[in-house]
Amino acid sequence: MASPAALVLFSGGQDSTVCLAYALDRYTRVETVGFDYGQRHGVELACRQKVRDEIARRFPEWGERLGPDHMLDVKSFGAIGDTSLTSDTEIVMLDSGLPSTFVPGRNLAFFVYAAALGYRRGLTTLVGGMCETDYSGYPDCRDATLRALQEAIRLGTEIPFSIDTPLMWRSKAETWAYAQELGGAALVRLIIEETHTCYKGERGLRHDWGYGCGACPACQLRAKGYAAWQASQQGERRQRNVSS
Ligand code: ZN
Repeated sequence: MASPAALVLFSGGQDSTVCLAYALDRYTRVETVGFDYGQRHGVELACRQKVRDEIARRFPEWGERLGPDHMLDVKSFGAIGDTSLTSDTEIVMLDSGLPSTFVPGRNLAFFVYAAALGYRRGLTTLVGGMCETDYSGYPDCRDATLRALQEAIRLGTEIPFSIDTPLMWRSKAETWAYAQELGGAALVRLIIEETHTCYKGERGLRHDWGYGCGACPACQLRAKGYAAWQASQQGERRQRNVSS
């Protein structure tokens, strides 16, 4: 049996909101942690509280399990990994094959901070929305990296921490389907209306998949995943009509 208490790495984006729903469904005590590393826009950080409030309001059983939110200042880390997210450099693909939004080792640092907080709060399951299926460009999001990190954290704290990444092998379309499975249409609606993914911090334009510029890599990934999920649902409906 896994620890009943979990700490969710929560940015207010689509993936970490699905992770929060997953944790609230599965663990009896759940807290959230966010990182301020000097983002170019504070939009995502502002969405965090709204998403937490709406989840607690629309899903009362989950609301009872949802504990405090923690915000950690990691601006010095943002300054070291000065890239598109933290400065005005344009988002481009680098010679390394990684997008310029990559902050070296960012997710490693986040988990170490989360473990230190979890140690104090008695939360030994660390939940993160890392995924290597759709977007394996970030080496610190890969399963092998996080398994090694889990081992390092266990050795370094003498606490049996586990790193739980429920989205690791899901495509973006499957992540939408998973949201539907966890919280039905109400959760899908909440994700569309309240979560933020756009790298450019655009909140003015509303698409069927939510708010964003529609052109940056994060928006394109979210839009493509939503379209693929919609298409697969239509396929399933057709299948049902044929067999009935
Ligand atoms: Zn965008």
